Amino acid sequence: MIDFNSLIDQHLHRELREKRVGRYWPSSVGMCLRKAWYSYKQPKETPVETLRIFEAGNLVHDFVAEVLRSEKTPGIELLKSELPFELEEDGFVISGRVDDVILVKAEGKTYLVEVKSTKSLAYQKKPTDSHAMQLQLYMHATGITNGVVLYVEKNTLQAKEFDVPYDEAAAQAAIDRFRALHKALTEDELPAPEAKRVKAMKWMCGYCDWAEECGATGTPPTIDENLVRL
Ligand code: SF4
Repeated sequence: MIDFNSLIDQHLHRELREKRVGRYWPSSVGMCLRKAWYSYKQPKETPVETLRIFEAGNLVHDFVAEVLRSEKTPGIELLKSELPFELEEDGFVISGRVDDVILVKAEGKTYLVEVKSTKSLAYQKKPTDSHAMQLQLYMHATGITNGVVLYVEKNTLQAKEFDVPYDEAAAQAAIDRFRALHKALTEDELPAPEAKRVKAMKWMCGYCDWAEECGATGTPPTIDENLVRL
């Protein structure tokens, strides 16, 4: 019998590539700072279960691009389905291809749409903080001020969208996160376990490849915050 799971795993497998301190991926802006630090200092291969989730997200993104490109949806024009990104700051650079956003034109306006796949739309009453932060960073770099976070439910293809207008202070706060990460890496200081402390980020610990290392340092009290504090 053909083992399709094994074929998928082989197809998705990626060699471990060490990250260079001083170069940061824009999409990691909302990641727990401690987790981001570990990903540089103690890199690990991404588990195949995580790669499968990423790939499902890519498939949803491609589907949305196909819908927007289609001749059957003339009210909207797909301008780009991914963007190059580069922001130079003091001593570090935030760069990489941004492949979860789509640039569209509708009713005479240009929109930056960040596409996220989700298991369920039921509890999505607003954009997740890390997604809104990512979008602020993209708008800051591109100069486009109309942002939309679009959630698509994976098993029904139902969608829910939220307008996120550009906010310069929020974009600067996003850049400051990379500044804090860069400082912690260059000074070799382990950041606080951010996702354990901030209630809205706690879910991240369930998907963290460094949970064991992090757990060894103890569990701090939770603080009930929606926005990330450095
Ligand atoms: S276990 Fe949670 S707090 Fe610790 S590094 Fe991972 S995501 Fe961050």
